[in-house]
Amino acid sequence: MKAEQLHGDLTRVLFTEAEIERRIAELAAQIDSDYAGKEPLLVGVLNGALMVMADFSRALASHCEMDWMAVSSYGAGTQSSGVVRILKDLSVDIKGRHVLVVEDIIDTGLTLAYLIQNLQSRGPASLEVMTMFRKPEALKGAVVPRYVGFDLPDEFVVGYGLDYAGRYRNLRDVGTLAPHIYA
Ligand code: 5GP
Repeated sequence: MKAEQLHGDLTRVLFTEAEIERRIAELAAQIDSDYAGKEPLLVGVLNGALMVMADFSRALASHCEMDWMAVSSYGAGTQSSGVVRILKDLSVDIKGRHVLVVEDIIDTGLTLAYLIQNLQSRGPASLEVMTMFRKPEALKGAVVPRYVGFDLPDEFVVGYGLDYAGRYRNLRDVGTLAPHIYA
C-alpha cells in the first residue's frame, strides 16, 4: 500500500518509495564493489528486514546467498532490553563465510549487539552490518553498522517492513504515525 491510501494514519512521510529505491541502489553498488569476488551470505533479521532483503538482494549485480534469523527481545513495552531469544536460527554454517547482516532499523542496538556476538562466535571470515534505518540512540551503541540507508529522527516510524501492532509492514513509504492511531 501507498501512504495516500492510508487516509491520514501518518503525520508525515519521511521517505518515499522512490527515495528508498534510490538509496538501496546506491548501497548495492557500494556492496557489490566491497564484496567483489566474495559472494556474501546475507543474513536477514525477521520480520522487519523482509522488504530490505528482497529489494537489496535484487539490486546487487553479483551473487549472494540469503539466510534468516528470527529473534525476540525481552523488554518492557517498546524498550529493548538486550536479552534476546533466538526463535529461528540460521540454516547454514557461517564458518569462513563473509556475512552481511541485513537489518531494518537500529534503535538502541541492543538486539543487534547480541546477534553480532552470537554470530562472531561461529567463526565467519568477516561480519558486517547493513541497516536501512538508524535512530540517534544507535550512535551510542557498541555495534557500528558499515552501511546505513538513512538516519532517522528519534520518532516511531512505520512502513517498509516496520510495523505498529502488526500493521503497516506492507506500506511502501516510511512515515510517522498520527497520534489517533496510538489512542
Ligand atoms: P533495538 O534493540 O535496536 O533497540 O531494537 C530494534 C528493534 O526495535 C527493531 O528491529 C524494530 O523491530 C524495533 N524498532 C525500533 N525502532 C522502531 C521504530 O521506529 N518503528 C518500528 N516499527 N519498530 C522499531
